[in-house]
Amino acid sequence: MTSISGKTDIDWTAFAADLAPVEVISETVLVKKRSRDFFWYSPVLNAELKKCFGDLVARPKTPEEMRHCLAVAWKYKSPVVLRGGGTGNYGQSVPMDGGLIIETTAMNRILETGDNFVRVEAGALMADINAALTPRGREMAMFPSTQDIATVGGFVAGGSAGIGSVANGALRDPGNLIALRAQSVEKVPQEHVFEGEDVLQIHHAWGLNGVITEVTLRTVPARDWVGCLATFETYEAAYAAGYQLAQATDIGRKLVTTVDARICSYFPRLEGHIRPEHHLLVSLLPSEDVGRFRTLIEEAGGHVDLTLTEEERQTAKLPHVFDFSYNHTTLQVLKADRSATYQQVGCPVPPDPAAIADLRPKLGEDVWMHHEFARVGGEIVTFDLPIIWYTTPERLAEINATYEENGFPVYDAHTWRVEGGGLKNADYRHLAVKKRMDPDGLLNAAKSAVWESVKDLSPEEIAAKGAE
Ligand SMILES: Cc1cc2nc3c(=O)[nH]c(=O)nc-3n(C[C@H](O)[C@H](O)[C@H](O)COP(=O)(O)OP(=O)(O)OC[C@H]3O[C@@H](n4cnc5c(N)ncnc54)[C@H](O)[C@@H]3O)c2cc1C
Repeated sequence: MTSISGKTDIDWTAFAADLAPVEVISETVLVKKRSRDFFWYSPVLNAELKKCFGDLVARPKTPEEMRHCLAVAWKYKSPVVLRGGGTGNYGQSVPMDGGLIIETTAMNRILETGDNFVRVEAGALMADINAALTPRGREMAMFPSTQDIATVGGFVAGGSAGIGSVANGALRDPGNLIALRAQSVEKVPQEHVFEGEDVLQIHHAWGLNGVITEVTLRTVPARDWVGCLATFETYEAAYAAGYQLAQATDIGRKLVTTVDARICSYFPRLEGHIRPEHHLLVSLLPSEDVGRFRTLIEEAGGHVDLTLTEEERQTAKLPHVFDFSYNHTTLQVLKADRSATYQQVGCPVPPDPAAIADLRPKLGEDVWMHHEFARVGGEIVTFDLPIIWYTTPERLAEINATYEENGFPVYDAHTWRVEGGGLKNADYRHLAVKKRMDPDGLLNAAKSAVWESVKDLSPEEIAAKGAE
């Protein structure tokens, strides 16, 4: 078997034989397909990553099979990239150095549903976990809008927040991510347990410092959720109402999203259901709170266009309202026009509708705002995932600079390095754990711009750099 990536000189036929009895996928077209994620949202990443492929895919079904995959990878000193549903947006699961892709989706058992937690294997789909919790009247404290294809391991390693975060905080907030099990990559891979604050040693490390095999998450009571869509004359009014709703103590909302009217014109499934050319507020709230929601929206100058119980939604054959939130909003536009892209931007805290109104004309006609409201560290924050009509790298840099100059930090969505995007700076705690768990640097190492400069230090020396 030759090297599909063109970057390794491993005997992949012998490697595949050594992996037995683990299922392998070696057909070039399938390996190439599993080397991609949703990086194509970014024209910058698309140009850089579309020709990066792995060499072989393994699909372990149990933690024991996972351990075997990692031992074989160590034996051949093969680069390894973990893959769940492959819905990451920054090429997190793209094998930059070729090598083995380990797809976790066959390792998907729901192991335990307790009173206020769920313990699952890393490859379990988020939607399947919620379905398993329903009979107990529980649900996950948050889930990404990709729940139908995203795995819990991928969410923990690559995600950060989602539907539920406006009520229950980000994944990293204390108590949301209760425990993790992760395996090392060495001659005999070991399984380590991370609990309490220690889960942050692995969370959002893009799978470069340990292979998550099991996750324990907080659950919350399930409610009779109603999808609500309200519209406003101005974006400022929609954002101000969103902030009021996010803060409301008498409305149990688990999603608050505001979307520029121009983006809504790319939502054909909502045509006839929302007022055209109006700015949209999207929410999910318990049925008993819909009356209070109506009052809040009307007092804020808006109009409630649609409320849908889950049963009504299914009868009307409409999508979930969260298909118009988070990065699904971007996806709706991209379905119609691939010249769109997006960015990830923080906003001043507390949210300030006047600052948003002031910034909009400065950004220009090629930037259309979309905000998500979340609770981080107990405080309501918003972040902007705008549609950007991409022309050149220079114009993108100019848009980023306008945001930053006005006090809106950009967490660049157009970089495949873990330090360049959501983290902004190097996370030496992650890298110290990498040195312990993956001393040979086989796990997704290219994704860290800093690893190369610290890989010969001891874990303690790497950790100490974080304190400098
Ligand atoms: C339309 C759309 C909407 C989105 N909405 C949200 C959202 O609401 N909230 C949010 O946070 N993100 C969102 N995302 C990003 C992404 O979907 C989520 O982060 C998702 O949870 C990733 O899960 P996955 O199984 O697809 O992970 P993958 O894309 O397969 O992997 C993500 C990262 O985790 C690593 N990884 C996977 N499994 C393991 C494992 N077992 N051990 C160690 N590392 C592992 C991979 O190597 C990779 O670095 C969205 C993306 C899209 C395209």
